[in-house]
Amino acid sequence: MNRLAALLFLLSTLAWTVPARADEASTAAAFQKLRTSPWLLRQFMFSFPKGGDLHNHLDGSIYAESIIAWAGADGKCVDPASGQISFPPCDAARPPMKDYAADSTRYSQLVDAYSVRNYERGARSGHDQTFVTFGRFIPGTLGREGDMLREASNRRGVENTVYLELLQSYGMDKARALAAAEPGAFKADRPASDWAGHPALARIVAETRTDLDRHEARWRELSHCGHAAAEPGCGVTVRYLAQVIRTFPPEQVNVQIALAFLLVKADPRYVGLNLVAPEDDPGTLRHYREQMAVIGALGKLHPDVNVSLHAGEFGFGLVPPEDLRDHIRQALDVAGARRIGHGEAIGLETGALDTLRDMARRGVAVEINLTSNAIVHDLKGDQHPFLLYRRFGVPTALSADDEGVFRIDLTNEYQRAAATYPGLSYRDFKQLSRNALHYGFTAGQPLLADTASGRFVPACTGERPSREPKAARCRDFLAAHAKARLQWDLEARFAHFESQAH
Ligand SMILES: [Zn+2]
Repeated sequence: MNRLAALLFLLSTLAWTVPARADEASTAAAFQKLRTSPWLLRQFMFSFPKGGDLHNHLDGSIYAESIIAWAGADGKCVDPASGQISFPPCDAARPPMKDYAADSTRYSQLVDAYSVRNYERGARSGHDQTFVTFGRFIPGTLGREGDMLREASNRRGVENTVYLELLQSYGMDKARALAAAEPGAFKADRPASDWAGHPALARIVAETRTDLDRHEARWRELSHCGHAAAEPGCGVTVRYLAQVIRTFPPEQVNVQIALAFLLVKADPRYVGLNLVAPEDDPGTLRHYREQMAVIGALGKLHPDVNVSLHAGEFGFGLVPPEDLRDHIRQALDVAGARRIGHGEAIGLETGALDTLRDMARRGVAVEINLTSNAIVHDLKGDQHPFLLYRRFGVPTALSADDEGVFRIDLTNEYQRAAATYPGLSYRDFKQLSRNALHYGFTAGQPLLADTASGRFVPACTGERPSREPKAARCRDFLAAHAKARLQWDLEARFAHFESQAH
């Protein structure tokens, strides 16, 4: 490069660097001013670009109002005492939802029964109310999978979110039925390679993929994806985590874990797996180590399968201290988890400081669910280890968990974090947003060399995300890596957001 070219290059770099920084600085200053007003903060965070939502249960994301409407339209029945939804034919004890919910007082009671709305006024704890809702309302969602994907993706779409990893359990009921029909077939006392390739699982994988095709097609049809009237969810990149329900008998859990690995291997829409249901359930506590060992053994057979685990999702007093000692540690070391969901109990674990340092070193991110933890375990403010993770350099990302049950959205979690933790700056929120994409399991190499500064990897150094990359090597890099493309999109959204007045 001759001197003139070098000078021109320098000027062109300055020309975009200075305004970009000025935009970020002015947006950061505006954020500091408005953050004490809940409603200005809500407005700001609603439009603030969010990289992703890495911890979102599809069942729990649905609001009660949708479930009541679907159950009514589908001729399903409801038990007035509990709100339990069931399949027709209905009878005097289980009237049709359509008739029963026509009364506004009953309708209101059903919304409470399928969510934590008004739970503080009831006899049940937030923990019990949260977990009791699912069994009641899930029959109302069956057959409405396309509608569910539409609702979950649209909510992220309007909130300016790039990426969504949905936890769902398609096919898991068939896997459990297989284990129930063949006692001993999925016992973990033999090497996983002996039982995890059971021939019936291949059939369940094929059927589940076909089901997913159908559900996605229905969602895209309902949302008019690809047409002028496309709904916001069409623009969100949705991937799935195969969701194992871990409170069933061990063999039924093992077969679900095997199915989860096979789904991730077979279908690129599945980017990982996770274990769900209460961690303090006596069955979970009894079999936790075995569950971790099964995941670890299958992970050795399929090292390219990503694992995120709910771990440390409880607190002091809920279970004996002995059960709080090492769930996160086991998830990391025995099961090979690359992300941790919740991680609330880290401060109670033996050797927690070493674990925190290891997580930072290995780049294991924690999916932080502030509202969920406040409702389910009354864990809030400085009691929450969110800042502890950050202090040790462990990557963190904000997520919605069960937004329908908790009656929140992802914006609410950003707003809550900003209001609760005044030490978090605008740039910290950009990092939280970037982390929710960077640590997502979507395929490909990342665009960012680090999520704090937003610095690009060498292939794209000096490029501006608000226009097409100039350099062929950056264009090639983006073409080759889906994750990098999503990150490019997020950085472009930041540039646009920061160019607006706040
Ligand atoms: Zn969860």
